[in-house]
Amino acid sequence: MAQTATQSVTSANQTAALDYEVIVLGAGVSGIYQIKLLTDQGVKATVLDANGGVGGTWYNNRYPGARFDSESYTYGYSFSKEVLAEWNWTERFAPQPETLRYLNFVADKFSLRQYMQFNCRIKAMHFDEQDDLWRVSVSDGRTLTARVVIAGIGPLSTPSLPRYEGMKDFKGISFHTNDWPHEPLDLAGKRVGIIGTGATAIQIIPEVAKQCAHLTVFQRRANWAAPLNNGLISVDEMNAIRARYDQIFDACSRSPAAFEHIPDSRSFYDVSPEERRAFYDKLYAEPGFGIWLANFPEIFVDEKANAEISNYIADKIRQRVKDPAIAELLIPKDHGFGIQRLPLETGYFETYNRDNVELVSSKADPIKCITEKGLRLNSGREFEFDVIVYATGFDAFTGAYDRIDIRGIGGKKLFDEWKDGPTTYLGMMVHGFPNLVMLGGPQTAAANFPRGSETAIEWVTPMLEFMRNKGYTRFDARADSQAAWTQAVKDSYNGLLMNKAQSWITGYNSNLDGHEYGHTRYNIFATGGAEYTKHLNAAAANDYQGISFSGKS
Ligand code: NAP
Repeated sequence: MAQTATQSVTSANQTAALDYEVIVLGAGVSGIYQIKLLTDQGVKATVLDANGGVGGTWYNNRYPGARFDSESYTYGYSFSKEVLAEWNWTERFAPQPETLRYLNFVADKFSLRQYMQFNCRIKAMHFDEQDDLWRVSVSDGRTLTARVVIAGIGPLSTPSLPRYEGMKDFKGISFHTNDWPHEPLDLAGKRVGIIGTGATAIQIIPEVAKQCAHLTVFQRRANWAAPLNNGLISVDEMNAIRARYDQIFDACSRSPAAFEHIPDSRSFYDVSPEERRAFYDKLYAEPGFGIWLANFPEIFVDEKANAEISNYIADKIRQRVKDPAIAELLIPKDHGFGIQRLPLETGYFETYNRDNVELVSSKADPIKCITEKGLRLNSGREFEFDVIVYATGFDAFTGAYDRIDIRGIGGKKLFDEWKDGPTTYLGMMVHGFPNLVMLGGPQTAAANFPRGSETAIEWVTPMLEFMRNKGYTRFDARADSQAAWTQAVKDSYNGLLMNKAQSWITGYNSNLDGHEYGHTRYNIFATGGAEYTKHLNAAAANDYQGISFSGKS
């Protein structure tokens, strides 16, 4: 890397000193590894994060039951043999506190905290075309300059709240799941209302039901879910996992979603109905996403195959929920199994057998407003709560960018550029917004997050090195390359039942204008991680094809 110190940038009228060569936004999974690679190379770089500490999504999401659906040992970083040797995962699917400890462990092991600045929310980022740098306005009043900004601000980091009348009037405690209080929240004796039944709510509901006096769940659309089948990892098991780390990461790199779960190689139609049933039984009893990702590939594209697995899971729900009417309410009727992101659960369906839990269909009787004491349905039915939890999801992919006033060439706003949906080159860059890289941004492969993140960082870091070695001060995705990538992303949705989903993957969000059902936003490269990596490698092998480099030096 050529420059290690503050660099001078000369323009006709002024001499500006760059504060940093690179500013990384976000101290989550991506930001931690990105700052390590940059500082290892001697690049003057810093991380700015709005939170009070390391961890990104794992810093924020502290609700009871929070954990990932990825096997812990596929979620951890692969880049450091030492970390792999030293860190012991204690659960197959680690809970939030363990993952947050892990990320802090990595940050400390490589002394990365010295490069991180917390409680720094980015308000604006304007590209200076004359000097090829970004001016980054921070909530503490500073405006920092950097040649390059790398944003690791998360695909699901911007909470989206309902727009109910009266939300400010509620006299109890209410919050979005992303903002679950950091201090212990004693729910004993409390009446709790949870709005939403997505992956987050499906984790929270069983835990809160055990703690509170009474829980009311407001379900608008039912969501398919299958057992997580979590368990502890013994010392012996951890040692066995450690011995096969190379194999694990290799399997992830070859799978569409970067898991060890690989789609079954047989065709649905070549397997007898009895064998298929036995196969589903096996997958349902296994830990993790197997029932979704190691199933027959046809379940994602073929109505008949999808109907069969949907009926299978529906029967499981009927077996697990005692009241048949409640079981039917919990079975989705508007979409098939697995066409939205599948939540994994621990005792979710059995929770509705408890005396202190009520399921209310807010589809049959929509929520009219929030009141001082609770909420009111259209029918006039009133509920009183001490706590209301909005498990209402996120402004996915573009939300975190939309909240920053990002302006590129000619003062063009990224918000305007993306108002009908994101358009990118390789999910990493946007034409007209030079020297900006997105990690985990829209139109990358939605995969086991750290796997995709490592791949992206290990592509971006040499790309920046290439730029410096050539003496360039600007890179920008070419318009034609961006159009081709955006088309490839759209094409990747072809034939998928997922196209019908009312999900953040297709850009649906009832709480946001422009995110109505039917107005698809192409948020992910649906062909998957392995194919995505091939595109990255091909571009890199051709001197970062698709990107224009230019500069003053
Ligand atoms: P989500 O899947 O978008 O679910 C939001 C829920 O809130 C839905 O049930 C939705 O109902 C409901 N809702 C939204 N606005 C509403 C309104 N105004 N009135 C009534 N109901 C409303 O969000 P999420 O559960 O936070 O999950 C988002 C993603 O985060 C997941 O898909 C996953 O990728 C990630 N996540 C991962 C894990 C994990 O690794 N285990 C855990 C949690 C989250 P409709 O369906 O009717 O819109």
